[in-house]
Amino acid sequence: MSIGILKPTEKRARLVGFLLLGAFGLFLVAGGMSIPFLFESFSIKYKFGFHRALLRSGKVIGIVAGVLLFLQLVLVSRLGALNRWVGMDQLVQWHRKNGIFLAFLALSHPLFIFGPEDIQTLPISWEFWPEVVGALLLMGLFYMVASGLLKTWLAFPFHLWMRAHRFGGGFLILAFFVHLLFSSESFEEGLPRLAGLVLALASIVLLLWRHLPFFRPLSRWAVSGVFPAGVQTTQLVLSSEEKKKFLFFPGQFVFLQFFDSEISSEAHPFTVASAPTSNQLEFFIGSHGDWTSQLKRVKAGDAVRVEGPYGRFSYLVLSDERPLLFIAGGVGVTPMLSMLRFLKENYGKRRVRLVWSVRTPHHLFCVSELSRFQESMDGFSMHLLFSHGLGGRRLDQEALSQFVEEFLDAEVFLCGPPPMMRDVGRILVDLGIGKRRIYTEVFGF
Ligand SMILES: Cc1cc2nc3c(=O)[nH]c(=O)nc-3n(C[C@H](O)[C@H](O)[C@H](O)COP(=O)(O)OP(=O)(O)OC[C@H]3O[C@@H](n4cnc5c(N)ncnc54)[C@H](O)[C@@H]3O)c2cc1C
Repeated sequence: MSIGILKPTEKRARLVGFLLLGAFGLFLVAGGMSIPFLFESFSIKYKFGFHRALLRSGKVIGIVAGVLLFLQLVLVSRLGALNRWVGMDQLVQWHRKNGIFLAFLALSHPLFIFGPEDIQTLPISWEFWPEVVGALLLMGLFYMVASGLLKTWLAFPFHLWMRAHRFGGGFLILAFFVHLLFSSESFEEGLPRLAGLVLALASIVLLLWRHLPFFRPLSRWAVSGVFPAGVQTTQLVLSSEEKKKFLFFPGQFVFLQFFDSEISSEAHPFTVASAPTSNQLEFFIGSHGDWTSQLKRVKAGDAVRVEGPYGRFSYLVLSDERPLLFIAGGVGVTPMLSMLRFLKENYGKRRVRLVWSVRTPHHLFCVSELSRFQESMDGFSMHLLFSHGLGGRRLDQEALSQFVEEFLDAEVFLCGPPPMMRDVGRILVDLGIGKRRIYTEVFGF
């Protein structure tokens, strides 16, 4: 059965997305790097030998750092096709790595420029305001990288860090273009200036795209129920008055935002646990921190804004019809629930196994529904593991080899706490499951 206009994307989609983004980035980088050669500024023209090479390198480095900064924005602008092809988790990973690389690249830019220009101190005066903007930009970049890397260690509240990171990122992009267009001779006129202005305009459009609700895939829902589900987990059910069906792949996630509830209005990502064929959206939300522990205050009738769907953690994005092995830890079972509910309605001849590890039996939810699936789906089996209490059992090599034995040819979907995912992933590879057939979803960016 199809789920509307969404077409399952192929395994190759991630590669296509990567190649397209890479080609776009290379085009910008190559174009930018050619500017100090094709449009020689006076400062380059009147330098010779080593100084000339240094100055030109400094300009090339600055331009490449600027292009990478622009790509930072592209990566987190939640552009529909890019998210569908590559997946938001992968894009966020690239954003993180690219940010660190570009900060160090940007640091070498003034060092290369200052040497041949014989500038020994920072030119701090009104006359040199574009250079001062550049210095602030560099400091801002390092602040962003350091705060991102150290946020957990410094126990920064995530929502405050995220807000500061977003605003900071926007200001850094704008500061870059001010610095480029007002301090660099190469960008004073002609094609380089036009290219700089076009990229600045594209950045403003992306910032508006990312922040103005008008452009985002939003829909309005209302809370129809909030119930306790297992220890420290809340079941949230939403219904919509809109006639239009909400289309998603089972396993995808959305951002939820409450406006008129007694809970803060920041957006948080959660996987839809219901099947795409249901008229309601159902979520199981663990109390992980300040926002999720306030969820009890939400009442039936409260308005919710849903943004999405996002993500590629779904068997529907795969073209193969291999058996499916779902391995979940705790509330990481939510994408599996959605996939199993959808599979139950569209059940073929596929072999499916769920291995779900929770702390104690009290941490389970929806377990009677899942048990019933075993009766209606011939090829479905479920195994529960309790890690705590008497006879507690972990997802170690011994346990996994038992569950994986008949599923060595399966596509594996793995979701749970990061340490568990790391250990299980390693064991699965040792047991002979190819890395390329293990799909993971991390519940955090
Ligand atoms: C793709 C995805 C799907 C998820 N699905 C589920 C689910 O089905 N059930 C469930 O219980 N949890 C799910 N989560 C985790 C959930 O989003 C976080 O636990 C929740 O946002 C924590 O917020 P907090 O303020 O209570 O905790 P905090 O202590 O503020 O945050 C704990 C961690 O959650 C992540 N986080 C917090 N706020 C955000 C945000 N606004 N955007 C992105 N990440 C954030 C960060 O990694 C942070 O370190 C999912 C997360 C992601 C990324």
